[in-house]
Amino acid sequence: MQEFFPLTVTDIAHDTRDAVVLSLAPRAEDMERFRFRPGQYLTFRRSFDGAELRRSYSICAAPGEGLRVGIKRVSGGAFSGWAKSDLAVGDTIEAMPPQGRFGPGDTAPGVQARHYIGFAAGSGITPVLSIARTILGGDPEARFTLVYGNRAVASVMFRAELGELKDRYLSRFSVLHLFSGPGAEEGLFSGRIDAGKCAALFGGWLQPAEAEMAFICGPEAMMKEVAGALEGAGLPRERIRFELFGADQPGRAKLRAEAAAARASGDMVRATVIIDGAATEFQMPRRGQSVLEAAREHDIDAPFSCKAGVCSTCIGRVHKGEVEMLQNYALEDYEVARGLVLTCQCIPLSDEIVIEYEGH
Ligand SMILES: Cc1cc2nc3c(=O)[nH]c(=O)nc-3n(C[C@H](O)[C@H](O)[C@H](O)COP(=O)(O)OP(=O)(O)OC[C@H]3O[C@@H](n4cnc5c(N)ncnc54)[C@H](O)[C@@H]3O)c2cc1C
Repeated sequence: MQEFFPLTVTDIAHDTRDAVVLSLAPRAEDMERFRFRPGQYLTFRRSFDGAELRRSYSICAAPGEGLRVGIKRVSGGAFSGWAKSDLAVGDTIEAMPPQGRFGPGDTAPGVQARHYIGFAAGSGITPVLSIARTILGGDPEARFTLVYGNRAVASVMFRAELGELKDRYLSRFSVLHLFSGPGAEEGLFSGRIDAGKCAALFGGWLQPAEAEMAFICGPEAMMKEVAGALEGAGLPRERIRFELFGADQPGRAKLRAEAAAARASGDMVRATVIIDGAATEFQMPRRGQSVLEAAREHDIDAPFSCKAGVCSTCIGRVHKGEVEMLQNYALEDYEVARGLVLTCQCIPLSDEIVIEYEGH
């Protein structure tokens, strides 16, 4: 069910010292599969020293343009380091079709001048750029204000592209760059994007209560502070959209020990996993192992990417029993209320569970 398809690297632009922008082309027969909505991401897979890694990268292009992703090398990072240094034009990478729900959704073209706000830090600009380009290109009345945080000018991804966007939509697109590295001058336009900075910007420079929607992508702490500040300034929660690129997963070793202890004492539950209508039943420990890990241990090809409760690749629906999610940064409360779960974070609570993978 879970299929990867080859994409050919047609161009590599070294955007900053640490970031590359890859242009990717699907095979002719896969074109339809790789149609995307603004804000969606691609999940790649590659083996490093015999171990398969999966990593997600947001698409920075607008629908209708070719596929492009922006990858920022993180220090010591396996996939991002490889993409920055070793990948060459003409190579192929395996990718899942676009996924994710970050973006404006199906908002109708504006009858009044709609104002959208974006907050991005570092590589968090990637999906926000796709969203901004789509909104500005699709709605001649729309305005977009971007607050973009980086350590220094040299680390600003898509600097030229943001400049071109500004030239093209002079009166409708504004970008405020904030620099937080050493040497940045004190003041409104420097420092990190946090609650204090929002308080300083709101009112005079930005009026969140009048915004149609706000999009936030960056570190978890920034997202929480900005979302809180936006809500405090009168923007309803349902008009605030997030994308998180990663989350800490503390306590992994402890979980493994718990799973081993549960197995040793025979404290197991009966799990049934359904994919594409095919059900597989197996026993899994009551504690310490996620439904996704247990399913894969039983050779079930369940989809996944981040394994940290951040992306939405492993979504399932609970048909029977009870589970607990350890972390959830991807599903809205109403989706959880309807039985959706991130299987990479699900631990069984009842003696029997039945979970069906969704939408693949
Ligand atoms: C939905 C989504 C969209 C995303 N979009 C983008 C995007 O558009 N652009 C982008 O640049 N990123 C994006 N990301 C993040 C991206 O998926 C990767 O997480 C990121 O590139 C790091 O992957 P890596 O393999 O290079 O690093 P990893 O190898 O996973 O390493 C990450 C960090 O952990 C450290 N580390 C690794 N192994 C160990 C160890 N054994 N012990 C201690 N520390 C260790 C590394 O030094 C490094 O600092 C996105 C993530 C998600 C979930």
